[in-house]
Amino acid sequence: ATAIAARLNRISPSQTTAMRQRAQALKAEGRDVLAISSGEPDFETPRHIKDAAIAAIEAGETRYTDISGTLALRRAVAQKFKRDNGIIYAPDEIIVATGGKQVIYDALTATLDPGDEVIIPTPCWVSYPDIVRLADGEPVLLPCGPNQGFRLTPEQLEAAITPRTKWLIINNPGNPTGAAYDAAELAALAEVLLRHPQVMILTDDIYEKLLYDGRVFATFAQVEPRLRDRTVTMNGCSKAYAMTGWRIGFAGAPRFLIKAMDKLQGQSTSNTCSIAQAAAIAALTGPQEATEEMRLAYLRRRDMVVGMLNATPGLHCHVPEGAFYAFPDMTACIGRTTAGGTLLENDWDFVFALLSENGVATVHGSAFLFPGHFRISFAADDAALAEACRRIATFCAALR
Ligand code: PLP
Repeated sequence: ATAIAARLNRISPSQTTAMRQRAQALKAEGRDVLAISSGEPDFETPRHIKDAAIAAIEAGETRYTDISGTLALRRAVAQKFKRDNGIIYAPDEIIVATGGKQVIYDALTATLDPGDEVIIPTPCWVSYPDIVRLADGEPVLLPCGPNQGFRLTPEQLEAAITPRTKWLIINNPGNPTGAAYDAAELAALAEVLLRHPQVMILTDDIYEKLLYDGRVFATFAQVEPRLRDRTVTMNGCSKAYAMTGWRIGFAGAPRFLIKAMDKLQGQSTSNTCSIAQAAAIAALTGPQEATEEMRLAYLRRRDMVVGMLNATPGLHCHVPEGAFYAFPDMTACIGRTTAGGTLLENDWDFVFALLSENGVATVHGSAFLFPGHFRISFAADDAALAEACRRIATFCAALR
């Protein structure tokens, strides 16, 4: 017998966390480690946002708020959806949660019964399948490789839908590949979804603000208004405003879903931090220049990283269209031996040897349910990134 519930055995600890801990352990031993594994902006939260939080503390905004967030913040979120996405949500069609992660947790836990299926294109963010399992659902993983731009096709979607399909999760632009769907691609998926009214759509738009090469952001409820009443449009402050620690995520969704999510949140965390909510109003309604400056920094780093990776024998890197990750293919390195004498049998061996021998922390593709690749985050300063890419090249060049 064990004190731990069986439900916990269905999920694994975050594998990105495991890599971070290994890097920290090496650093503690005095090793020089470059960590390009983390999924959070390396920038400070912009000044005017911090000031709004300080002002909120001084003004006594330190109490419980509505479970779904303050009316002022829900109005600011409604304004954001209207301004940026052309979607009209009323304040009671919006929920604010402790990060985008809790929005996903709320939506799935409030709706999944045992055996319900959730379609997840892979590579995917590590948390989706585990949150589905925790909520008693069955993840249905659909591999979407670089040959299809790491994007789900309408044919794949059609073939995967069953009477038990409850959700499709789309992450646009995506972690870990940076792949983005344009309006036409979403419309083609929407055409399939219109034929299957039992399927709800959870679109994770957390990287909305980070798109490159003139791409224009699009989201389901905007592209196909007939899907609005079964779509959760999720977004948040973590990535756009360098606010990971503030824990602000939000979503627009039909009232029945918002009510269910509110009920669940009311018996778990209640509202997210009142001070962070005040800061989020400043983020959403204040000047947006800082977000654009960060985007330009990520773009510059993307071009450097992809260029250096594609000049490295044994690696091939698809050009990310958004977010701040590169996801190179390393299958040509499998079966070879490192300078330190490790035989590379898979992507985990590759990232582990790269960290141990050359001091660069990345994340193996299997952590995103897509082996044969690894993820580099360019949310790190330019000099560290360049040095990390040089070390990756040295590591690969030494393979026998
Ligand atoms: N969705 C994706 C794809 C992410 O990569 C992340 C963070 O890494 C999140 C959601 C969650 O962000 P938060 O809970 O900080 O809003």
